[in-house]
Amino acid sequence: MDTKAFKRSLNSSENYHRKGFGHDAEVAESMQSEYQSDLIQDIRDRAYTLKRGDVTIRLAQAFGFCWGVERAVAMAYETRQHFPTERIWITNEIIHNPSVNQKLREMNVLFISVIDGQKDFSGVEKGDVVILPAFGASVQEMQLLNDRGCTIVDTTCPWVSKVWNTVEKHKKGDYTSIIHGKYNHEETLATSSFAGKYLIVLNLAEAEYVANYILNGGDREEFLTKFRKSCSNGFDPDRDLVQIGIANQTTMLKGETEQIGKLFEHTMLKKYPPNELNQHFLSFNTICDATQERQDAMFDLVKEKIDLMIVIGGYNSSNTTHLQEIAIDYNIPSYHIDSVERIKSRTAIEHKPLNQDLAIAQNWLPDGEIVVGITSGASTPDKVVADIIERIFELKAAVPA
Ligand code: SF4
Repeated sequence: MDTKAFKRSLNSSENYHRKGFGHDAEVAESMQSEYQSDLIQDIRDRAYTLKRGDVTIRLAQAFGFCWGVERAVAMAYETRQHFPTERIWITNEIIHNPSVNQKLREMNVLFISVIDGQKDFSGVEKGDVVILPAFGASVQEMQLLNDRGCTIVDTTCPWVSKVWNTVEKHKKGDYTSIIHGKYNHEETLATSSFAGKYLIVLNLAEAEYVANYILNGGDREEFLTKFRKSCSNGFDPDRDLVQIGIANQTTMLKGETEQIGKLFEHTMLKKYPPNELNQHFLSFNTICDATQERQDAMFDLVKEKIDLMIVIGGYNSSNTTHLQEIAIDYNIPSYHIDSVERIKSRTAIEHKPLNQDLAIAQNWLPDGEIVVGITSGASTPDKVVADIIERIFELKAAVPA
């Protein structure tokens, strides 16, 4: 498919919307009451610190809802207002936060179901309204919905669209897109659908494996087995790694994305004469500011004396997971939770250890004076963070120090 031509024609269709519908004021009010918190504003005003009893809360200086997420949720609310009687679908979670998705269900927004790993669009009919979430949708899904005569409300974050434009440029120049991301993350699935040839690397170790193959060759079958789920159809490492361009899932660790970019730049400089670099390597800055700010704030926080860290966000939220990785790297006991309900008692918390299933940790809240670091991923409303802080105060106050 000529994805660029398709996007161009979609952009000019009257059934395609990339902006709100003029209900900003009403929506802002609902969002304020449902997702904002006076407590959080208070902590912000007190230099991100609040002490009550023997608990000091240190909040990261950048956390929670990014503007891309806020924009997507507001557009979804506006869509409901603008199409009060139409059937409204969403192709995936609007963002990775259970309370926000639940709110949309209560507003009678239907979620496309997934059967055996495949989305089932059979219930979507001509005239239905379909919302595309903040991290986008694949070009094939957009085409299907357009062909079916749906009204599409596209809330894809402009930062994600910027990455799509980047892979389009790679494709135009016959470069293979090396995408730093998770092959099964919705955003990376969408990005790869716009790419020509692509290879998805999860981390620096995988990037080093690929760089080594470029320089020294290797076992082709092993390569293809390793990346069987992470490359374009018919990908051939001996043919398709001569011209490469870098792209990323916007919520990966920014330092790692940068390292991967440098690694491939150096690899191509070693492999080919320096004056030919542009023929073999392309790189554009597509790291999202919000991801960068939240990670930088976390790096500042972990350098303080923190007794434990609570990292709040959906369990399938990539940017939240990366915040937790930072706490782990700094040997701070950290608990990734998605809601206040995960705090079972003063002694038990249900959390998600990195790359593991949910587990119950005992004795998670130390006795005596403690400093608790708090951060949250880009999809987490302030209200969720506030509920968790209040619960910690309450549990600590219930037991004498
Ligand atoms: S994290 Fe960045 S790319 Fe993702 S929705 Fe927020 S602003 Fe957009």
